[in-house]
Amino acid sequence: MSSTDARPRATQALREEILYYCRESVRAGLNFNTQGNISVRVHGDDGFEGIVITPSDVRYDAMHPEDMLVVDLDGNVVEGDLLPSTELPVHLAHYRRRPDVQAIVHTESTFVNVLGALGQRIDPVLLNMVLYAKGPVPVMPFEFSTCADFGRRSAELMGDDVNAVVWANHGLLAVGVSLKLAFKVAVAVEENAEVLYHAQRAGTPTILEYDRIAIPEGARLP
Ligand SMILES: [Zn+2]
Repeated sequence: MSSTDARPRATQALREEILYYCRESVRAGLNFNTQGNISVRVHGDDGFEGIVITPSDVRYDAMHPEDMLVVDLDGNVVEGDLLPSTELPVHLAHYRRRPDVQAIVHTESTFVNVLGALGQRIDPVLLNMVLYAKGPVPVMPFEFSTCADFGRRSAELMGDDVNAVVWANHGLLAVGVSLKLAFKVAVAVEENAEVLYHAQRAGTPTILEYDRIAIPEGARLP
């Protein structure tokens, strides 16, 4: 599909929002250099369905809004001159499985990777984590992460109710109904992984369960 004579699939505002969260991921210590990637689902008035995704191998401090790529759900680039992130097939597999997912944030943060390297599931010990990730985050055993099969297994392991999955010896994939919420999940899981790591060495931490948290009617979430 060519978009040369159509309206752009990705607005300038969306491109800038993605770049903002890329740089936030570095500021928050979730990524550095060219690590990690972000994508957001887009729909066109003409039935087009696809995603906007960050380019491959571009440092965030040198990345521009126009470097983002628009890709259809079959993986064809319809806007952009650079190569999409190498994990494009993995993002697409997650969007295919979960129609509720509108954005994906992949990070390579330290304590997620400490527990991932140990093969240890990230149980919720913090309120933010249980509210946004919604449950224990499973760990997928190490394998190279750029093919669609990996993506299908990653999406299957994450399932339909939890919003994150750890790739052992690599990093985290977090999803949300918006980019803001997917980013909150990535931040919450890393913070939780750090507290869990230390708490387990000091004693036996209390594990929270999403279904057992009584959220008062009308309460605003933190
Ligand atoms: Zn990665």
